[in-house]
Amino acid sequence: MTTRNSRPFRAARTTCRLTWQATSWPPAPEALRPHFPGPCHPPAMTASTPYDTILIGAGMSGLAAGIRLAQFDQRVLVLDRHYLWGGLNSYYKREGRRFDVGLHALTNFVPKGTRGRPLTRILRQLRIPYDSLRLGEQHGSRSVVGDTDLHFGNDFELLRGEVARQFPTRATAFDGMARELEALPFDVPEGQESARAYLTRHLGEARLVDLLLLPILFYGSPTPSDVDFPSFVVLWKSLYEEGFARPRGGIRPLLDALRSRYLELGGELRMKAGVAEILHEDGRVQGVRLDDGTELHSERVISSAGRVETLSLCEETVAATCGPEHAGRMTFVESTTLLDQPAPDLGWTDTIVFFSQGERAVYEEPAEAVSHASGVICCPENYAGQEPETEGVLRLTLMANAEHWMAMSDGEYLAAKEQAWSKGLETAALYGPDVRKQVVARDTFTPRTIERFTGHLNGAVYGCPHKDKSGTTPLEGLFLCGTDQGYLGIVGAMLSGVAMANRHALLPA
Ligand SMILES: Cc1cc2nc3c(=O)[nH]c(=O)nc-3n(C[C@H](O)[C@H](O)[C@H](O)COP(=O)(O)OP(=O)(O)OC[C@H]3O[C@@H](n4cnc5c(N)ncnc54)[C@H](O)[C@@H]3O)c2cc1C
Repeated sequence: MTTRNSRPFRAARTTCRLTWQATSWPPAPEALRPHFPGPCHPPAMTASTPYDTILIGAGMSGLAAGIRLAQFDQRVLVLDRHYLWGGLNSYYKREGRRFDVGLHALTNFVPKGTRGRPLTRILRQLRIPYDSLRLGEQHGSRSVVGDTDLHFGNDFELLRGEVARQFPTRATAFDGMARELEALPFDVPEGQESARAYLTRHLGEARLVDLLLLPILFYGSPTPSDVDFPSFVVLWKSLYEEGFARPRGGIRPLLDALRSRYLELGGELRMKAGVAEILHEDGRVQGVRLDDGTELHSERVISSAGRVETLSLCEETVAATCGPEHAGRMTFVESTTLLDQPAPDLGWTDTIVFFSQGERAVYEEPAEAVSHASGVICCPENYAGQEPETEGVLRLTLMANAEHWMAMSDGEYLAAKEQAWSKGLETAALYGPDVRKQVVARDTFTPRTIERFTGHLNGAVYGCPHKDKSGTTPLEGLFLCGTDQGYLGIVGAMLSGVAMANRHALLPA
């Protein structure tokens, strides 16, 4: 029997016309209303009935896109090669202890009820209650270049005061620039000027430019030493105007909320289901072939695997339009160190420290396997309202050279990981208490781990340098979401998923 909520009926409803009444981008959920001109006659469903949309990747962007499409009753399937959802932002257990992979900070923090900001908008669009994340705000972070510290937090006045205190002659210029950036929307068009050129034009002072740029580069630049202006604006707002928070319990509550929301809406999720090939004919997508040879059909595929990685799943002529030489190279070694007591009890007061030891901010692929010249230290306990822990946690992110890590033998690899970690803790001690005698457990992941578990070539966390907000590809029906569509981080990835679902799968052609 076919009821209004049964699968055949729901699939048929998506073929009905959608009207778009939105004026803002991405459109608010209520702006996308299924429009039923008359009774829908559902087709009979079989196992080979095509999906309305197949999504590659069960990371933040793929799950968010899946929720959006399932909300509009699409027959939607999310596929991921890994056994665990979350992609770059996941978690795992080792010897009974839990390790988070991606989360240092949920950027874009705004208090509950703040209207029109990315975090509250995306949670509203996905129908995830703000309170369910139990967000705790950062205690305070700093950017350190050479011997200069710049403190910042979730109140922009702290940063303004720091600039005025340390660079009094630049205070007025900084205020003017901050006002200009605040007035810009999140989505500024591509311009000629890079972030560094913009900051230098306004502030002149190289040290101040470096201090402001360092956190921005580490939290989102796919290119060395600089970032394009549209990404800079997004990152400036996400890091400085809005700020950092952490869901109580880490990334898992958010991931679980996304997954269960998607499944509740009737979305299908298949883990350990890698896409080996994107099927297409005459320039139009037909579906996908999985690693085990299964063929699944859909005239629309949205992929969060990355531009180069996605196109490599297509025939050679399509893959050649963006070959591996276009893949990103910015990648990291990240260590998580567990301590025999909470890190704040040992004297760690900062939430996040972005550091560069020399006179300039270093953000580039090192010549050696890993560089300790610059990096990020995160203490997840230094967010408000975290659950009391008996063990402390410090996370350290360092810039890495993927080629070195990929070429190592297993023995060399283990030794290099050990060395990166131990020298890393020594480096961290330059910016806070020395915790080397308090270590109870640790784990380190490398570009090799990132590539293996997420498929991102070179372990490039921020994807390829060329971003395309349209999300289109040379194939009709094949679209991109996630990092290579140009929205960054956890909140950005979810926004990207929803925006691409709206634009390519819900709005009229
Ligand atoms: C160490 C680290 C720290 C980070 N810290 C932060 C932070 O503090 N704050 C923040 O906002 N962001 C942070 N990020 C960035 C953030 O994690 C990412 O921007 C975001 O998770 C990207 O989500 P995504 O869905 O676009 O892509 P991904 O998470 O990469 O998801 C892509 C998915 O596609 C799957 N896939 C790929 N190829 C195939 C295939 N052929 N078949 C099937 N499945 C496939 C992969 O397995 C993966 O699950 C961090 C990232 C890292 C690595």
